[in-house]
Amino acid sequence: MSYDVIIIGGGPAGLTAGLYAGRANLKTALVERGMPGGQAATTEMIENYPGFPEGIMGPELMMRMADQARRFGVEFVTTNVERVREEDGRFILSCTDREMVGRALIIATGAEPKELGVKGERELRGRGVSYCATCDGAFFRDKKVAVVGGGDAAVEEALFLTKLVDKVYLIHRRDALRATKVLQERAFANPKIEFIWNTTVAEILGTDKVEALLLQDAKTGEKRSIAVDGIFIYIGMKPNTEFIRELARVDEGGYLITDDNLMTSIPGIFAAGDVRQKKLRQVITAAADGAMAAVAVEKYLEEKKMR
Ligand code: NAP
Repeated sequence: MSYDVIIIGGGPAGLTAGLYAGRANLKTALVERGMPGGQAATTEMIENYPGFPEGIMGPELMMRMADQARRFGVEFVTTNVERVREEDGRFILSCTDREMVGRALIIATGAEPKELGVKGERELRGRGVSYCATCDGAFFRDKKVAVVGGGDAAVEEALFLTKLVDKVYLIHRRDALRATKVLQERAFANPKIEFIWNTTVAEILGTDKVEALLLQDAKTGEKRSIAVDGIFIYIGMKPNTEFIRELARVDEGGYLITDDNLMTSIPGIFAAGDVRQKKLRQVITAAADGAMAAVAVEKYLEEKKMR
């Protein structure tokens, strides 16, 4: 199938791009490998998206964005894009089960959680090792869990887990959190959270499921273990750009480099949301990127027609 624009990724950036492209009467497909919504759909409550003074549940906000894009004629396609090549000024997408052709592309594939890279992490994934408290928190009702990391995600999810579990150890490699002040204050005031500072996880222990963590003091190197039933890893994200890295320029972290119009190094390929090199990664900035990228695509296609 051939489209004016193919959007890859169905988080807030992709869905907003779809809404704008659809309203601009561009023949638009949105390709998503799973359920639309992206990371925001795995966040319990979103408190910093304007217009919802009491906050809004992540899945609900994303479902509304998807409905809005659908209303303007965006065609949703569930498949995985494996490779992109350029042929005669068009982009051919090799997907798991089909080929798709677009006159322009918007990459909005976001980012996914980084792994710690320690023994036991892969082996016990899904059996106590998790990267999504909203998805898996309920399995740990009244138990003890650890959260690793000191950013917004770690602190926010540690706070969420306190509603379910008996105790949360927040393990951070330094002695100060990176998370925003308001989240820090809530965490410090929460009696269910115990902070373990200047510490890294050396190994995740357990036979069939997580039973304990081997911790290492970042200053002295001393090791000790603590008993936990689960570990939630929030040490940052890595961009989903493997399928496009050979074509478009990325920075040292793998994020797509864009110009003021969100165009990548390849004319006709645009990027929006967490997948591109930028300062602030939030739902609101992803949505804003989506709008900008779709408008830029519209201009790009018009100018191309005139040439
Ligand atoms: P992040 O801000 O990059 O924080 C990652 C944390 O993990 C840092 O505290 C870092 O320690 C630690 N870390 C990194 N590698 C590690 C390793 N190998 N071992 C142990 N610790 C390690 O990532 P994030 O929290 O996932 O957030 C990503 C983006 O989404 C941010 O821009 C964030 O603001 C945004 N976000 C916002 C909200 C919100 O506004 N409510 C919620 C979630 C995410 P150091 O501090 O020592 O570097």
